[in-house]
Parts: sequence; C-alpha cells; structure tokens
Amino acid sequence: MKMLTETKALGGLEKLKTSFQNFIKTNYEYRAQNCQTCPTKGACCLDAHFVNVHITRLEAVAIRNTLKNLSEEKQREIYKRAAETVEKYNLKSDDDTFEKTFACPLFEKSLGCLIHENAKPSACISHACYENREDLPPERFQEQIENTIEKLNKRTYGNALTWLPLPVWLDSINTSK
Ligand code: SF4
Ligand code: SF4
Repeated sequence: MKMLTETKALGGLEKLKTSFQNFIKTNYEYRAQNCQTCPTKGACCLDAHFVNVHITRLEAVAIRNTLKNLSEEKQREIYKRAAETVEKYNLKSDDDTFEKTFACPLFEKSLGCLIHENAKPSACISHACYENREDLPPERFQEQIENTIEKLNKRTYGNALTWLPLPVWLDSINTSK
C-alpha cells in the first residue's frame, strides 16, 4: 500500500467530497424538501434518536481545519460541546457504536451546519427529506464514497481504528485541550 502525506490525502478528500456533493445536488437533491424553508430546520442534525454519523480520522482533521476559520472562543465552545456529547451519549463505550445516536455538536441554530461548505460527512451529503422513497439516492453511492475515504484514511494513518462517531473523533483530535 503506497502511503500518502496528510496534506495530499486532505486534498484528495476535498476533491472527492466536492464531486459527491455536486453529484447529489444535480441528480437527487432538487426533488427533496428545501432546507432553507424547512419549518424544523436542523431537526435532522439534533435528533438524538436519529443521528449516528461516523467519520474517519482524516475527515476529523479536515473538520478541524475548517473550524480554524472560526474564532478561538467559538472553536473552544464546539470542542467542549463535542466532549459533552461523547459523555452524554456514552459514545466511547465498547458497544457497537453504529447502534449509538446523538445530537450533532456541529449544528448551530443561527448558522446551520458549521462544516457545510467543505468538510461535511458523506452521510450528511446524501441526507435530505424526500417525499417519495424512490427519489432517494441509492445507498450504493454512499457505500462507494465511504470505501474510497477509508482507503485514503488507511494510506495516511495505516490500519488503525477507522470509523467512529463524529463527536468521538472531534474530541480525540482536539489539540487545544
Ligand atoms: S434535511 Fe429535512 S429536517 Fe433537515 S433541514 Fe433539511 S428539510 Fe429540514
Ligand atoms: S455534520 Fe453537519 S449536517 Fe451532519 S449532522 Fe452534523 S450538523 Fe448536521
């Protein structure tokens, strides 16, 4: 396996996500409910019985880089929220983490998803509210992109633990602790 530098892998990840986001937008999203006019905006991100977004370490680093555009105070607030989310929903236990759900610490009522533009997890890119089930993007597209992300992650950090709940990775890569 040819290893990659983190910088190179982050570049590859950004290209991959941008192209996936464009693909979903062009082919599927126009049939979904418009998030801008949604009466329950953010319900999808804050529903502690529904959200179980998992990411890789490489994606966590991309998120950290995006959050660096915010004030230091805001960054501290977000990392604190991530740590509290890990604790509150017991996300570090040995149970199957894919069974665990939580309210996402990256959603802000006034701003929406703080990483919407360039570091959104693929599960979030695929997700929207569709009236008809047949309008949803087929799951295989998300599986394909997740396989590619996993390969990029392995080529950067080796075979260490890969997919974890978003708040767990966010808390682990917090260098301001
Ligand atoms: S995904 Fe659904 S619940 Fe979430 S903001 Fe968009 S329309 Fe509203
Ligand atoms: S990463 Fe963004 S889109 Fe995904 S659940 Fe969190 S706030 Fe919502």
